[in-house]
Amino acid sequence: MLNIVLFGPPGAGKGTQSEKIIDQYNLVHLSTGDLFRKHLGEGTELGKLAQKYMDEGNLVPDEVVIGMVKDKIATTIDPQGFIFDGFPRTVAQAVALEDMLNDFDTSISGMIALDVPDEELKTRLLERGKTSGRSDDQDESKIDNRIQVYKNETLPVAEFYENQGKYNKIHGVGAIEEIYLAIRRVMDGL
Ligand code: ADP
Repeated sequence: MLNIVLFGPPGAGKGTQSEKIIDQYNLVHLSTGDLFRKHLGEGTELGKLAQKYMDEGNLVPDEVVIGMVKDKIATTIDPQGFIFDGFPRTVAQAVALEDMLNDFDTSISGMIALDVPDEELKTRLLERGKTSGRSDDQDESKIDNRIQVYKNETLPVAEFYENQGKYNKIHGVGAIEEIYLAIRRVMDGL
């Protein structure tokens, strides 16, 4: 199996690049943000629980996220691999993911980290907020909080994979196709 962690701050382009990757490599896209928004839309208990965290741009508690991902992995039939988008966002989630994949005799093949400067992120998120309907994209203070949470809680995840020799940084500014080509070069070497 080919299992990729697509990593980067909010607004780095993970969703956009995931779509291109899953088309070409036949991987299952597992975006925790998308899964939470689906639960929110369906009004499930999990969705209600996650909402207050998401609205403020804070992380949903680890045990909630981990349970949801476990469920998704366990119910995916015969996957060729996963692209994890927006997960793991804490070191505890990264450790839990290792255990989950271990149960299926597989592991993370590599992390692809999209590198984008803060100012560019803010511009992109506010632009997306005009059309996405996402309340967390429409308020500058919420965006600032998400970027701060990323630095404090999520950046250590990059180090976790770097220590395993699985970290690959990609410059995430420029044409979508150019960035995708750089991602492919990394993926084809895994
Ligand atoms: P972004 O565009 O900020 O990368 P996502 O769509 O991935 O956002 O996630 C939106 C929100 O969902 C996050 O701000 C957070 O509240 C919650 N969330 C998503 N993934 C996780 C995770 N792995 N751990 C904790 N919370 C998460």
